[in-house]
Amino acid sequence: MGIEDAFSLVMHLPIRYIDETVVIPIRDIKIGTLSQVEAEVIRAEVLYKPKKMLLVRVKDASGTLQLRFLHFYPSQIKTFDVGNRIRILGEARHNLFACEMIHPQCKLIKENDVLPKSLTPIYYLVAGVGQKIIMNAMHTLFDQYDLKSYLKDLFPKTIYEKLGLPNLYESLKQIHYPKNFKEVKAHEAFTSAAYGRIIFDEFLAQQLSLRSNYLIRRKLTAIPLIAKNKLTQKFLNLLEFELTEAQKKVNQEIRTDLEKNYPMQRLLQGDVGSGKTVVATMAALQAIENGSQVAFMAPTEILAEQHYRKLLHWLSPLNIKVAWLTGSQSKKDREFSLNMAQSGEAPIVVGTHALFQEHVVFNKLGLSIIDEQHRFGVEQRLALRKKGALDKAIEPHQLMMSATPIPRTLSMSYFADLDVSVIDELPKGREAIVTKLFSEDRRDEILKRVHEVCHLGAQVYWVCPLIEESEVLQLQTAESTFLNMQSNFKDLKVGLVHGRMKLSEKQKVMSAFVSGDIQLLVATTVIEVGVDVPNATLMVIENAERMGLSQLHQLRGRVGRGSLKSTCILFYKKLSDIARQRLKVIFENTDGFIIAQEDLNIRGPGEFLGIRQSGVAMLRVANLNRDFKLLEEARNIADQLLEGYSEASYLHLKRWAAHANERVKV
Ligand code: ADP
Ligand code: MG
Repeated sequence: MGIEDAFSLVMHLPIRYIDETVVIPIRDIKIGTLSQVEAEVIRAEVLYKPKKMLLVRVKDASGTLQLRFLHFYPSQIKTFDVGNRIRILGEARHNLFACEMIHPQCKLIKENDVLPKSLTPIYYLVAGVGQKIIMNAMHTLFDQYDLKSYLKDLFPKTIYEKLGLPNLYESLKQIHYPKNFKEVKAHEAFTSAAYGRIIFDEFLAQQLSLRSNYLIRRKLTAIPLIAKNKLTQKFLNLLEFELTEAQKKVNQEIRTDLEKNYPMQRLLQGDVGSGKTVVATMAALQAIENGSQVAFMAPTEILAEQHYRKLLHWLSPLNIKVAWLTGSQSKKDREFSLNMAQSGEAPIVVGTHALFQEHVVFNKLGLSIIDEQHRFGVEQRLALRKKGALDKAIEPHQLMMSATPIPRTLSMSYFADLDVSVIDELPKGREAIVTKLFSEDRRDEILKRVHEVCHLGAQVYWVCPLIEESEVLQLQTAESTFLNMQSNFKDLKVGLVHGRMKLSEKQKVMSAFVSGDIQLLVATTVIEVGVDVPNATLMVIENAERMGLSQLHQLRGRVGRGSLKSTCILFYKKLSDIARQRLKVIFENTDGFIIAQEDLNIRGPGEFLGIRQSGVAMLRVANLNRDFKLLEEARNIADQLLEGYSEASYLHLKRWAAHANERVKV
């Protein structure tokens, strides 16, 4: 059960409580609720028809009650000798003739037997570990072990007093042994002060851990990249559009960070299409102005390639060389790029995770930019940090980007080790995307629509179902869809792109789509990130019910990139409740932050965070939405505690680390 020490035992909190403190007369039993009575056995018999069962009739001064057992041991029967007094706890229901309880908990009443004084906690169990075992262990812990000093408060009392929270020992005692139902109600709603204390401490552990990492990194050295506004200004003059206010704001935040002599750790988030690439490019130029190199990484080859092209387009006029590095390029090309990186001849190197590899050496790496950071593992990010510049003691600045908007609750908690910038505005002139839901039987209608759109000169994405069980199957589906479309639309140019194609083929197809030579692109979800074709105005997503919210949002973001009205058709077969809920969210919302918040609500932080989860302790008791106030409090005080009470902070972390299943690694 993951219970390894006193702390993890005492943190095994009850999931509910039952009341064994009172007995009521049989007459007062309410059907369907748990009741406890004391009564005398007046009859007990084992029946064999229709099934073997034990029937017992008991009475007290107010009435009689029937007990029915379908499984029982011979030894149990002895409890029910006529005349015995027993205490019975169970849920009553109406039988044809009488009020009865099936399988109630029964106990022979001994002399001077007293009722428990507090409510009885019920614990989560696993096979082979029964309630009694946990209850006894808990009693031993509270009665015979010096739990009070073991759980002694580590930080000054005033911190907790200000928040109206009791000490840890008292809190846990109240939670395990509540006195009355009023207390229980508060515990079960997580609103009791006792629960508040546990939740606050858990948040605090998370904050202390993430913030200490943050503060440690602040002590590292980086090359200050002073904004000289030379290259950046030239770039802006040549740029085909004006920056949005939001882009200007985050650019300013990044600019200030880069000038520091410790490494920037900034997460830039903004919805699909909000224009993160320009902002990243401006950061790159600031580094280049200072004679530093930039590594620019993307999670897929398609996306990396697109960045590469965009940067070529933007930076060539400024006479800045861009090198290109991926796992699948020829040895010769690769060697060439590696040389450009090592000699410093290329101020900027774009690539996939190939950039993380050991033999990639930079001359003077000042900044690394990581697009779609959530797709990279913690380990990879670490590897890149270690790509020291001239000196191993110098760290590059890091700019991470994410198109999956991160709800505030998450960025305050799981991302507390990063500074966060948000682009909260889309460039002007974008038409809203219309989203439609179509069931399977309307396929013909959709096909007609595809045809029309293409004939009007626009382009269409057809996204094939995600088949998680088998990549081969997914490939087959994509290929057969492609063939179907080809025979369906003899007059249209249809293309296919999927993850298993060679890079060169993928590139050929993608550039044919970009140039408009392909009108209908059949694709697997590889197009999810980054692809930018403003003339594409219709997207059909097959089996949309299988996809996650953020994936759907990302996919849909591939259309509506130009000034033309765009439509996204979500095409579904069977809807489970959760799928219906997801599609409803996507149907009703276009704002990535709202979708992300809903996604978080549906899936919970563990699932939502995916890879990041592996690096950070999950919260067990605390809930980001419900306990937001306490999260804020913990966040506000964490840095202060780390500064002023470092020893206590360390002990607090140690106490809670054993309880957490994972620890922070970065
Ligand atoms: P994302 O944030 O999803 O990575 P991109 O950086 O790919 O978005 O930008 C999406 C598209 O919008 C690109 O074609 C980009 O050139 C364009 N764009 C970015 N900023 C602006 C702006 N301020 N005004 C107009 N178009 C912009
Ligand atoms: Mg992008």
